Amino acid sequence: MAYRLKLGNQELFEELGKFLSDAGVQDIRLRRWAQVLRLEMAPHRLPEEVIANLVSREKKLEANVIAFRPEIDGERVTANRIAEILRTSGDMELRRAAWEASKELGPLLADELRELVRARNLAARSVGFPDYYRMNLELQEIDEARLFSSLGRFASLSEEAFRRMKARLDRLLADRFGIEAIDLEPWHYGDPFFQEVPPVFGVDADPIFAAHSTLEWVKTYFAGIGLSIEPILEKGDYFEREGKDPHAFCLDVNREGEVRVLLNLKDNTYWAGTALHEFGHAVYDMNIDRTLPFALRRPAHISTTEAVAMFFGRLARNLEWLAAMFKLRGKKIRELEGKLLEEQRMQMAITGRWTLVMIHFERGLYRDPDQNQQNRWWDLVQRFQLIRCPKGRASAHDWATKLHIATAPVYYHNYLLGEWTASQFHDAMLRDLKLEEPEAWVDRPEIGEWFRDNVFRHGSLWEFNELVRNATGGIP
Ligand SMILES: [Zn+2]
Repeated sequence: MAYRLKLGNQELFEELGKFLSDAGVQDIRLRRWAQVLRLEMAPHRLPEEVIANLVSREKKLEANVIAFRPEIDGERVTANRIAEILRTSGDMELRRAAWEASKELGPLLADELRELVRARNLAARSVGFPDYYRMNLELQEIDEARLFSSLGRFASLSEEAFRRMKARLDRLLADRFGIEAIDLEPWHYGDPFFQEVPPVFGVDADPIFAAHSTLEWVKTYFAGIGLSIEPILEKGDYFEREGKDPHAFCLDVNREGEVRVLLNLKDNTYWAGTALHEFGHAVYDMNIDRTLPFALRRPAHISTTEAVAMFFGRLARNLEWLAAMFKLRGKKIRELEGKLLEEQRMQMAITGRWTLVMIHFERGLYRDPDQNQQNRWWDLVQRFQLIRCPKGRASAHDWATKLHIATAPVYYHNYLLGEWTASQFHDAMLRDLKLEEPEAWVDRPEIGEWFRDNVFRHGSLWEFNELVRNATGGIP
């Protein structure tokens, strides 16, 4: 708390500014410390009542989200139940009802969300930024023009491949449901936002995960690569219960390595990937050099910690990893071969295109909150995900059901930067550790060592592009 108050200290902020503009100060570490601290301080220069107002609006939205229990035919269901229906059910009416139930949150949040966006913009303008989106990009040391030009390149480079892949996916889905591909609706895909590859390949790693306690193997896995999570395991919150946040996250409580992970575990592929992802964040936080000054004792960048989390999250669909981790043999491996790789490729394409929707949507939302956001949302979904809006949703607020807009604003680009960086880490490790594909990434302490030496321990001592360049030879 005292640290929070200091972050709002105007004198210190100006002093740091003077310090940075003094060419006489050449100590790189000192300069970086001042720079990071100044960036961290910038949003705290807002008047106390403005911050309090934003926080209370966010809290209210969050409380609505946590209290929300969707209903199907008058019966309350959990988010996990909706996910299950969309992944497994062959009942078209039930699928539609589940998808629609997941969107009932929209009207409950839309007005307040729009108000929150306006309030965030007002706050950003009061400290000299054109809007809240731009403010956050700058505070994340991201150049908007450069980011959106990378996104444009990515969109056009992935367009053709995605179109082909989507056509194949649609044929598989149409076969599965016994309908024409032209009649596919959003609820025929495997989740409420088409973020996940639907289960159409007849490959299913779920039985492998169902046979093992996720917490147990996660612990064994990280210990095997020299990044034990044992010290923090006791303190986390891992299972579903009424009234609990249904999502997943990792929190570094005080930058002293006291890291907490929240999950709603089921022993299946989805939660295996999510557990690997969140504990990926955790091992990063746990291994930052404690002798760094407090301001630098955090990951180099959001996209860098996402990259690490993704590096591990990807393993849940990696055949070599599964085989080594769960000692699979012969027939079990052959059943998964090929299909699992196609599924993973498709997953990455789906993630990439979905991320483009979110990033463009959010930028537009802050540029002009008064526009018809429902139209904008579905225009982007159609353009990037090739999914059209079902009839009768003109007055719905489907855009408002994506919780990140309320609770993790101006964050989504970090997932895409993270995917790119995760692939760079992967390639750099193959090169540096002289590994060869296919590599299982299991029981190799040198993996933990590579991450610790090249990434984790530095905290945010280096600007993230520089850190990634030093670690891998290229920028994200
Ligand atoms: Zn993450």
